[in-house]
Amino acid sequence: MDEHKHLHAHQVQRIAVVGGGIAGMAAAIRMAVAGHQVSLFEASQTLGGKLTDTRLQDFRFDNGPSLFTLPELLEELFSLAGRRLSDYLAYERLELVCRYFYPDGTKIDAWSDSDRFALEIERTTQVPAAKTKAYLRRAAFIYETTTPVFLARSLHRFSNYLRWVALKGVLRIPWLGIFGSMHAFNKAWFGDRRVVQLFDRFATYNGSDPYQAPATLLQIAHIEHQEGAWYPEGGMVAIRDALQKLLLELGVLVYIGRTVDQLDVTGGKLTGLTIAGKQLPFDKVIFAGDIHQFYERLLPGSRPHKNPEKDELSTSAIIFHWGVKGVFPQLDLHNILFSADYAREFTALRAGIVPEEPTVYVYVSARKNNSDAPEGHENWFVMVNTPADTGQDWAAETGRLRLQLQERLGKLLGLPLSQHIVCEAVTTPPELAGRTGSKGGAIYGLASNNKWAAFLRHPNYSRTVSGLYFCGGSVHPGGGIPLCLYSARIVDELIHRA
Ligand SMILES: Cc1cc2nc3c(=O)[nH]c(=O)nc-3n(C[C@H](O)[C@H](O)[C@H](O)COP(=O)(O)OP(=O)(O)OC[C@H]3O[C@@H](n4cnc5c(N)ncnc54)[C@H](O)[C@@H]3O)c2cc1C
Repeated sequence: MDEHKHLHAHQVQRIAVVGGGIAGMAAAIRMAVAGHQVSLFEASQTLGGKLTDTRLQDFRFDNGPSLFTLPELLEELFSLAGRRLSDYLAYERLELVCRYFYPDGTKIDAWSDSDRFALEIERTTQVPAAKTKAYLRRAAFIYETTTPVFLARSLHRFSNYLRWVALKGVLRIPWLGIFGSMHAFNKAWFGDRRVVQLFDRFATYNGSDPYQAPATLLQIAHIEHQEGAWYPEGGMVAIRDALQKLLLELGVLVYIGRTVDQLDVTGGKLTGLTIAGKQLPFDKVIFAGDIHQFYERLLPGSRPHKNPEKDELSTSAIIFHWGVKGVFPQLDLHNILFSADYAREFTALRAGIVPEEPTVYVYVSARKNNSDAPEGHENWFVMVNTPADTGQDWAAETGRLRLQLQERLGKLLGLPLSQHIVCEAVTTPPELAGRTGSKGGAIYGLASNNKWAAFLRHPNYSRTVSGLYFCGGSVHPGGGIPLCLYSARIVDELIHRA
């Protein structure tokens, strides 16, 4: 923090942040802490981007993220600003991270305590607890080895590799045996179909395909089961509210309902922004929206090193928000109903097709946050992964899935579910795209489906325009709240310490 403080007047810069999602908010906070004059422009009427919520009758639903991991990254952000996160956000560690249901009737409770989790797997599937524990140790090793190189730094600056921690990480990587696919690794490790499916699923946390994505992603299992999964009081949107409060306290000028139309560049140097025909001068711009939209709209024809059409978009989703009459203790906060054929599901997703019988995620925030549903009711966020939008018939898919999901969930709970749903809102990929500006409604920008994906993501700075930086889920290091926070930290380093 001291490195930042007390800029001389000539060092104070006018910095614009474009996009008020989690990454843009974090970047704006960092720039304000450094003493710059910061303006944040957000196209929609609220901050948060994908991290917002919806009210439907007397129900409240989180719209986007539901799993909160690595709160220390938020803590770091608040302490940079001389604050304590706990004064802005209350959050508890979940004992039960997720409840998994399989078509053959197996039910596995994934406890955050790794001993308990390993014993539960042994009890339900006969996979020895020692095997799961060894797997989680391997996942921890990968996490600790690769984070300093792949996540916490700009991958695109050679100097990063010269740092000792990074060098150590790079040297150890070939010995990890993790450059095969995640599925191949898990299958060889566990054998049991159900346990393989459970651990394969972690690839989907950044929209990837376990049959294609590298086994390095198994570190996500370590994050969830050893670093811990958390839940914020008031729902996920409380994270947005905490950041928004801090932004305003730090004097960031926040402009909502303002779409930045164009970037102004002269002779390879950024000079400012244009909003509704008006040019505004800035010394630096941090773009925190979707990278595809950036090259399509804000700086057309300037994409430096790649054809964006060749980038593989991450998955999107269809989400049903259901207000449900009744209370169902069989469901916990986070629940997964697995499909019978996981490989088939991903083959369909790769082909741009909505899977016939997809895995379903059910998130019931009222389980922790009573006021999210009226007495005797629950709020269900029911999500299936779909391909990003390329013109599929979303109305037909929604109709088909509504019937199928109600039948599958009804069967699990032993009731005619359609008679218990009192209100509904549906989000499809085109709606996600419209609401947050992400191409095709891709949740995590690009998929990480090959072993070089980490290197292929867009860097956090522009190679062609000086004064231009990028953060957020569609650039390095990737999607999800923790990685978005990392991206803001990398931009801060590039601006102040590179
Ligand atoms: C359904 C769903 C479930 C998810 N689940 C999880 C989860 O459980 N855990 C997790 O960690 N992550 C999850 N994620 C991913 C996570 O939500 C995102 O990675 C993260 O919120 C992205 O933040 P961001 O700041 O990069 O971008 P966004 O949240 O997309 O924000 C970008 C903002 O920029 C604005 N913008 C864009 N262009 C302009 C412009 N030209 N002018 C002005 N404003 C502009 C947009 O309006 C938008 O508000 C989920 C996402 C979704 C959609």
